[in-house]
This record gives sequence, C-alpha cells and structure tokens, in this order.
Amino acid sequence: MGADSVVWFRRDLRVRDQPIFLAAADSGPAALALFVLDPALLDPSGPARRTFLYGCLRALDDALGGRLLVVRGDPADVVPRVAAAVGAGTVHVAADFGPYGTRRDQAVEEALAVDGRELVRTGSPYAVAPGRVTKDDGDPFRVFTPFRRTWSRQRRRGPADTSAATVRWIDPSDEGSGPRAVRIPDDEPLDAALPDPGEDAAHRQWKAFLSDAVDRYGEDRNRPDVEGTSRMSVYLKWGCIHPRTMLHDLSRHRSGSAETYRTELAWREFYADVLFRRPDSARHNYDRAFDALPSASGKRADELFAAWREGRTGFPIVDAGMRQLRAQAWMHNRLRMIVASFLVKDLHLPWWWGARHFMQLLVDGDLASNQHGWQWTAGSGTDPAPYFRIFNPVTQGERFDPDGDYVRRFVPELADVPGRAVHQPWKLPDGVPDGYPQPIVDHRAERDEALARYERVKAAR
Ligand code: FAD
Repeated sequence: MGADSVVWFRRDLRVRDQPIFLAAADSGPAALALFVLDPALLDPSGPARRTFLYGCLRALDDALGGRLLVVRGDPADVVPRVAAAVGAGTVHVAADFGPYGTRRDQAVEEALAVDGRELVRTGSPYAVAPGRVTKDDGDPFRVFTPFRRTWSRQRRRGPADTSAATVRWIDPSDEGSGPRAVRIPDDEPLDAALPDPGEDAAHRQWKAFLSDAVDRYGEDRNRPDVEGTSRMSVYLKWGCIHPRTMLHDLSRHRSGSAETYRTELAWREFYADVLFRRPDSARHNYDRAFDALPSASGKRADELFAAWREGRTGFPIVDAGMRQLRAQAWMHNRLRMIVASFLVKDLHLPWWWGARHFMQLLVDGDLASNQHGWQWTAGSGTDPAPYFRIFNPVTQGERFDPDGDYVRRFVPELADVPGRAVHQPWKLPDGVPDGYPQPIVDHRAERDEALARYERVKAAR
C-alpha cells in the first residue's frame, strides 16, 4: 500500500477551504491523514478545550471516511515514524507561528530530514500569515490601526476549492510498524455547556450569524445581555473554518457593522503577528517597564484571587462574567475586559495569574489573543489601553447591561433584584441579598492605589 504523503492536521480541523490537500495532491494521489495527541499541548489545555477538540476530531474523522490516524506522543518522535511506516516522502502542514508550534515544527523538520523526508508548510490559520504585514521599511507594526490598514490591503487568495484535490485517503489500519493508533478520547466530565464541535457546526453558526446578526454587530457587540457576537472564536481556534472563508462571505455585506466585524478578525491577526515577533510576550510584559509594577502577594492576594475565580467579589458584573466562564467555558469580550481590569487594577494581581486561569477554562483559549488581550487591559501590551484608564465595575455594568439581565442570568443570588439596581446591591434598602458577598474591595481606594503603583512604571521608563 503506502502513501505519497502524510497530511498532518493541527489547528485546521476541516476539509473545506483546505490548501494543504491541494499541496498533498501535488505529492501524489495517496495520502495518510494524521493527528497527534501531543501531551505538551493537551495537558495545559483544560477539559473544555480538550473535549471540544475530541469532538472536532470525531467530525473530521467522519468527513475523511473514518481514515484519520490518531497517535499519541511527541511529534518529533511519532511524525517521522508514521511517515517512514507508510513510505511517505513528504509531510504536509499548515504553518504554525506560535512559540511552541514553531519549535515543534523545526524539531519535526530536522527529524524528517534525517531520512530525506520533507515538511512542507502551506498556508496558516490566518488570512495573512504572521510576519507578512510590515511597515514600508520592513519593521513590524506596534499599533493596531496602521496594521489593520496594511493588512486590509494585502492581496488575499479566496477560499481554496478543495473538491478539486484528488487525494485518496489510505486506510491507516492497513499499515503496520508505525506508532500505535489510539482511539479519539472520550469527552471529559464538565460543568460547562460547550458549543457543537466540528466543521459543519462552524458553518451553521457562521451562516446563522450572517443572516441574523452581522448587520447589528456594531451596535450589539458590547452588550453581554444580548446574543450580539458571532461565537466563532472556538471554531477559529481549531480551524473548523478559515478566516479566509469568513472574509470572503463578509465581502457581500457592505454595512458598517460588517466592517467592524472585519476589524475584529484583524485584531486576531494582529496579536498572532505580535506574538510571532515577540514570543517572550506570552509570559512577560511586552513593555518591560511594567516589570516595575508592584503586585500584591501573600495570603491576602491568594484570597482575593480565589474570590475572583469563583465569582464572589461582591461586584455583580465581575461575578457574572466569572460565572459565565464556568458555565459556558466562554466569556463575552466586554466581560473579559472588565474582569481583567478588576484583577489587575482593583486587586493588584499580576495579569498572568488571570491569563493562566482563562487558558485553563476557556474553550476558545488562544495564546496570542489571550495573553495580548490581558496585556492590552493591563496596559503592558502593544497598543494597550492606557494603564490609568481604570474600569469602574458599576458604571461598566450600568452601561453595557443596562437592565441587569446579564447579571441576573448568571448570579442567581441577585435574581430578585429588579433592573439596574442589581449593579449596586449594597445600596438596596434591605442590604445585600442573602448568600451574596459584600464588595471585597473599595473601588475608589483601589483605583488610587493602582495609580500610585503605576508611578513606579513611569519612573522605570
Ligand atoms: P466576535 O465579537 O463575534 O468577534 C469575531 C472574531 O474576531 C472572534 O471570534 C475573534 O476571532 C476575533 N476577535 C474579536 N475580538 C478580538 C480581540 N479583542 N482580540 C483578538 N481577536 C478578537 N479571543 C480568543 O479567541 N481566545 C482567547 O483566549 C481570548 N482571550 C481574551 C482575553 C482577554 C482578557 C480579552 C480582553 C480578550 C480575549 N479574546 C480572546 C478576544 C475576544 O474576547 C474573543 O475573541 C471574543 O469574545 C470571542 O467571541 P466571539 O467569537 O463571539 O467574538
């Protein structure tokens, strides 16, 4: 039997608009479809992301006629062994630009080269690959708006017509002597309700958004109390749909709202670009002057962090956001900003504590968007919100959840508090309802404290 090439899926779990199939067809008609369960990525992922991934793998396996080979191990070890077992000279992938993915692919490439085999990269999870959008002098952009302008002008291919790819998937059970095939793992026990996994679900969600909500997106996207956003992040994370397909479909929508949506997709690409150029920014302040910002520590810091994680800060909008994260493994973007600001500027805790918690729980957890979303809020990132802009959790709640519906949905202790009064339960005539905490900090005082701490950053510049 044997195969001409191996198609190694990673963050591209789809069969439509899939340029690596076209590249594989150029290597010859017979290909082996492979996914590697890599403990280095799976272990830190958290049960929601793993469970969603397993669902996507089952959907992909179905779409490939049950011919997806799943193995477990270090890709630098197992990918060359799979290629050798089927006699494939080439392994096709979409390029990965993340810090771990870049290192992993280099190791795989070197291991394949020992036997004269090749790793071929075609496309990436982005409309424009990280590193390609530059200023005229070739320097990277540090500010989003000029990045977006140049990104929008890049010539982009339309969706790839994969039906033209004449790849024949070989049956992995016919092949011997490679790494042992494993079953796609079962779903893990979870409290959160996840979206449907897979490519078909991605297209259903996208079509529903395009027909119902895209033209209201500009108005509704900041309102957590209405279903105003697309909920596409999780599908983009795993490549169940490519942003190229989405941009193509969006080009039929001329509204200002559709333009706003394009801009949000550009943020995703901007952060991938920033992380590609500064891989250290996944773990460290992008702006190293922020290393001088003093953070809280010790027992009190641990208690505050626990209250934040559990949604028991006594600030209803913050608690509703943190409880949405547990209930849905997802949080509305406005809430991500509010709870992140609260952690950093009201509790004075390091942004990476919050970022790590998000990465453990979020079903759409994405290193570039998450670490830089956090750094944007913390003020330490590229093109960030200025540190001195400190969200007031009460006015944020009143503005973006004006009738209090979002809070009541996620904080049952406040279910009987009517209207916008829900944002300040400590002002209710009978006091804070039973079972709901008093505010754990005084926002005014912590705001002043945050600004005082920020002086240390200014001094470090
Ligand atoms: P929509 O509003 O429908 O946006 C459409 C798409 O645009 C999103 O799916 C996403 O791909 C992209 N997008 C929108 N806003 C942003 C943004 N600010 N930055 C980057 N891309 C964006 N997004 C993730 O995908 N994974 C994360 O781990 C993540 N962590 C975040 C952490 C913080 C602290 C903050 C402030 C933002 C984070 N975001 C993250 C960005 C944003 O909150 C989510 O992409 C969005 O809420 C997903 O919901 P949606 O698909 O309905 O978004």
